[in-house]
Amino acid sequence: MLEFKGTAISTGYAIGQILYVNTYKRNIPKYTVDDTEREIKRFYNARSAASGQLKILNERARESIGNKSALIFEFHQMLLNDNSFKSFVENVVRNERMNCEYAVKMASEHFSQMFANLDDDYMRERSVDILDLSNKLLNVLMSQNDMNKITLTEPQIIAAKELYPSDTLSLKKENVLGIITGLDSFTSHASIISRIMGIPSISNTGAILERLNGKNAIVDGEQGKLIVEPTEGILSQYWSKKQHYEEHRRLLNSQKGLPTETKNGKKIYLCASIGTLDDVQSVLDNDAGGIGLLRSEFLFAGRTSFPSEDEQFLAYKAITKAMSNKETVISMLDIAPINGCDYLNISDEVNPAMGMRGIRLLLENPVLLRTQLRAIYRASAFGKISICIPMVSSPGEVRAFKKTAKEVRDELKSEGINYDPSLSIGLMIETPAAAVISDILAGMVDFFNIGTNDLTQYTLALDRENDDLFNFYTWGHKAVLRLIKLTIQNAHKAGIPVTICGELVSDTRLTEKFLRFGADGFSVVPNNILETRAKIRNIDLNDKK
Ligand code: PEP
Ligand code: MG
Repeated sequence: MLEFKGTAISTGYAIGQILYVNTYKRNIPKYTVDDTEREIKRFYNARSAASGQLKILNERARESIGNKSALIFEFHQMLLNDNSFKSFVENVVRNERMNCEYAVKMASEHFSQMFANLDDDYMRERSVDILDLSNKLLNVLMSQNDMNKITLTEPQIIAAKELYPSDTLSLKKENVLGIITGLDSFTSHASIISRIMGIPSISNTGAILERLNGKNAIVDGEQGKLIVEPTEGILSQYWSKKQHYEEHRRLLNSQKGLPTETKNGKKIYLCASIGTLDDVQSVLDNDAGGIGLLRSEFLFAGRTSFPSEDEQFLAYKAITKAMSNKETVISMLDIAPINGCDYLNISDEVNPAMGMRGIRLLLENPVLLRTQLRAIYRASAFGKISICIPMVSSPGEVRAFKKTAKEVRDELKSEGINYDPSLSIGLMIETPAAAVISDILAGMVDFFNIGTNDLTQYTLALDRENDDLFNFYTWGHKAVLRLIKLTIQNAHKAGIPVTICGELVSDTRLTEKFLRFGADGFSVVPNNILETRAKIRNIDLNDKK
């Protein structure tokens, strides 16, 4: 028996035989051409064909994993239509007089390397998407067909150095017990798809995957373990773990579609907090009532210049469209300089957590604020969107923000651009100051969202990023709980609803306390939605405590 420790990518257990799949490499032809325009036409034709393939894959994905998968392929379509990729290929063909297969290969290497060098994990993972897409173009140009290239005739565990998103999607779920990849990260699209498909999956185990072909193994997607040729004892332990896990999942799945209400019939708004476009899939999968907090930082982190209004608009629009009639609360940019945004030009700060971030950064950078507001308002014409202002501590900040929001609305109106005139504006209550003056702030906005991560950090004067302070961190500290209670009371006096978000609400031991404070809703990570719903449905607020 051999045991390898890796990264847990998708939860659950798989027990079975391994099939090693070779993610193939091929020789790309390289030659000079006389008729460069003909070559560019070949490239354009390949793009249309690849776009057609993406549509088919998208349809397939909808059938197998639901509507949400559309986002991944919309991202691929976006890359396919990207002007920089197109211009790069055209330049190589025109200036170097090279064939377009070679030009696509060069563009693919250039852009995937560019993404691979970024600091942000999420953006770095997009380099694999570029390779996947370039492969599609090359398949068309070289008349090969990669669809369904991994074929399984019986249920097996797949091992591969790397899987592309389209590889993962082309797998027939009933035949894939589990997935082991060589180098893959939690945020790659292939990983995301394996989670959506519910296939136990691990990565980075350090095992030489070719040698595992045909061997019996256990994939432990909970702890990120790979056990090859397990002993009888380990095998029977894992069969029972697998059974328990599946029972628990079934129990939680039975919560899907059920109303989120307490035993005594109080309806609670249960929504999800997310940080990227891809998370939308698990929001819908877990049957959340909406997105209670979309951290917009993902559009700004790990890049060298501001995202344009259009880029932001397209992202917000894609999310709100995927959410259909469910609400998305977009939190305005709340980035700390450490997140790799040199282009924001924030000078080095001794205390970045107390520095130029949230509403302060936005008010200090009117163009940044206006651009984000314009993008959000434009997207609001396509679905239900609300805005949340982070890091507020004074009424003046709210007034200034609302003034700009009004100017943006007037501007859009005069330009004839549609937006939702009833879009709500709310506050993140995450500084003790905001909680203490919540009676004043409540009259200025449409809702409150209590951010327990920052509220805890600032109330306890305890840096949430500093692991050394772990022993001083009191989970659900009384001071924080009192501020939460006060905020809810003040909000209700002013007639506005309050949702609580942050890590504290993922702890279902506190759910009842928050409900007794009067919380109207919770925004939790998508994976905790069903657990929280089950908890809420078990609480009777009429019970005397
Ligand atoms: C919070 O502060 O609790 C919160 C939800 O926001 P973030 O974790 O993004 O600071
Ligand atoms: Mg916060």
